[in-house]
Amino acid sequence: MAGRAACGCARMLLLLLPFNAATAAQVEWLILENPYFKAFASTDERRARELLEELDQFRVAVQIVTDLRIPEGARRTEILILGSDFNELAASRSIGGFAMGTKADAAGRIGTLIVIPADKIGANERVVVRHEYVHVLNAYRPLRFPRWYEEGSAEVFAHTTVRDGRTIVIDVPAGRIRNFKRSAGVGLDSWKSFDSIVAEQDPGSGGMTDLYLQYWLLTHYLVFGNPALAPQLEKSLIYFDAGMPALDAFTKAFGRTPESFWNGELSRYRRKIRSTHYTLNAPIAGAPFAARRDDEGEGEAALLALRTRLGQPDATP
Ligand SMILES: [Zn+2]
Repeated sequence: MAGRAACGCARMLLLLLPFNAATAAQVEWLILENPYFKAFASTDERRARELLEELDQFRVAVQIVTDLRIPEGARRTEILILGSDFNELAASRSIGGFAMGTKADAAGRIGTLIVIPADKIGANERVVVRHEYVHVLNAYRPLRFPRWYEEGSAEVFAHTTVRDGRTIVIDVPAGRIRNFKRSAGVGLDSWKSFDSIVAEQDPGSGGMTDLYLQYWLLTHYLVFGNPALAPQLEKSLIYFDAGMPALDAFTKAFGRTPESFWNGELSRYRRKIRSTHYTLNAPIAGAPFAARRDDEGEGEAALLALRTRLGQPDATP
């Protein structure tokens, strides 16, 4: 029957497509750009636009809730949106994307390259890309943050989403709450003292999940749980930026240690931590993206540079 034959052809075509694409190596690259992002996409324009517009709306939302202006003439973030190439590059990395520093430009500014798969990307995976983009936004601030707040703010604001075009939600993911229950059940054995996580600038790679959970909890409390502490938080960041060790800066600004927060209100806060909502009067719109064909081979060059970089042992995800 005609219907059955058509169905069989379609399936065969699907099986052949990845093979043909790989051997032909003729990918049509597109460049999509606005004042904040320059993206190279080896996927179709509609999908690339979807991903970029969502990231750009995230940029606007985080700028609103953190009261940040991106300076005029700031270096744009580069985005590589990959089709099947992504899986091969992402081996042993989080499937949702990853980021790395780019070479310095003519003015000596290091940029960020964020690599995103065009497909198979869900809400949880997007958090990885958003976490990395919060670091990009943090770098536009006049202060250099201590590690606990740099990572804590990336963790907190990575869960920012926009609902119905005008409500910004800073979510508390269900997985975080489950982690607290598990941690409470085992007496928080895998946790470090809050003094030590604030003091450390390079904690190594062991027990990262709990470490980031602690950064997140402390930052969430200081930003949303007790906004009256904002002046002390700002002071602690200024002291650190001026060269004071992170734990001293914290203790001097707050008049108490991070661990004393945990022994007091912070351990209670983890049980009542909630999502935060802001509804704005106007819709949250990003900057429009212009698209053009990549006639200069910039996308292919960016992918080649990335492959070379990932082949080197000092590549940093
Ligand atoms: Zn980070």
